[in-house]
Amino acid sequence: MLRSIRGATTVSNNDASKILEATGELINHIIRENALDISQITSIIFTCTKDLDKAYPAVSARKLGIIHAALICAQEMYVEGSLAMCIRLTISAEMDISQEEVKHIYLRGAKGLRPDITGASGSDFSVAIDGPSGVGKSTVAKHCAKELGFLYIDTGAIYRTFAYYCMESGIDITDQSQVDKIADTASIEVKFVNDRQIVYCKGIDVTGKIRSQLVADNTSKISTIASVRKRLVAMQQEFAKSQNVVMDGRDIGTVVLKDSPLKIYLDASAKIRAKRRSDELESMGQKADYQMILKEVIDRDHRDMNREIDPLKKAEDAVLIICDNLSASEVSAAICAIARKRMTLKRG
Ligand code: C5P
Repeated sequence: MLRSIRGATTVSNNDASKILEATGELINHIIRENALDISQITSIIFTCTKDLDKAYPAVSARKLGIIHAALICAQEMYVEGSLAMCIRLTISAEMDISQEEVKHIYLRGAKGLRPDITGASGSDFSVAIDGPSGVGKSTVAKHCAKELGFLYIDTGAIYRTFAYYCMESGIDITDQSQVDKIADTASIEVKFVNDRQIVYCKGIDVTGKIRSQLVADNTSKISTIASVRKRLVAMQQEFAKSQNVVMDGRDIGTVVLKDSPLKIYLDASAKIRAKRRSDELESMGQKADYQMILKEVIDRDHRDMNREIDPLKKAEDAVLIICDNLSASEVSAAICAIARKRMTLKRG
């Protein structure tokens, strides 16, 4: 019977040899996992995201000796929230197994099916992590994503990029009407390359630039504005539709992924968080004024917890983890253990 096998992979840049190498690796993986002989393959449809045009991925199938099968390559439409630099394929093959037994293969972070093509959600689990600044959310979330094979989404970076856009565009962030005017159109973009989140402001990669204290302070101000949250929440929900994610922020369990099967709330005292931040700065050879850092932590907590819209709070059904005396790896291990249990229960 004719069966369809799906596969996807990603590359780090638009380079002909990289595209062919990644596609060859994907086809080989599919052949191996499905115990296929290349003579069983009748056709392959390849698609590439719009940012890849330096090579036809089909060439790699010919190189592997798949000569008799019909091959076609097409460029995909851009879909908000989909992975960047991604090569996808569907192999049709004569096989003796049922369609349900076919093994679909996703490599190099190209997880899940594209919902716009399959009509089905590519995600069946997520981990929502919330907590105040400096509690170690991103370190823990990154560990968990790696362990679970999920995509890590740093929502704070998306709010920071929006604040950066306002700063670059001379927008007075204390004047809500000015921010409202640009909320839907501000040129900010988020892409995932090999599981790494990259943020763009006006087409330029600003992933490093958004990390300053000034950007952080402005971010907690603009994040109180409803029009900004409306756009960014929708963007984050779109990402989580097509793949399993570990997402961290302030409103993930309460708003963005309010149906998430696993919500975590991380907490630690302001003093511990300020101490960790000043130690971190000192270890990077930078000056750290503990009292000033503590004040910034307390001010930011106050703004994030007391804003009218989507304030930082623990979702009722979130698991509370107090991190004062726990290392990041202890916290990650605890979260992964709960995630695995719940996944097994959910998947049956
Ligand atoms: O986590 P990070 O420090 O990068 O977040 C910067 C700021 O972005 C936070 O202080 C908060 O005001 C805002 N934020 C938010 N909702 C999120 C993530 C971040 O309001 N989901």
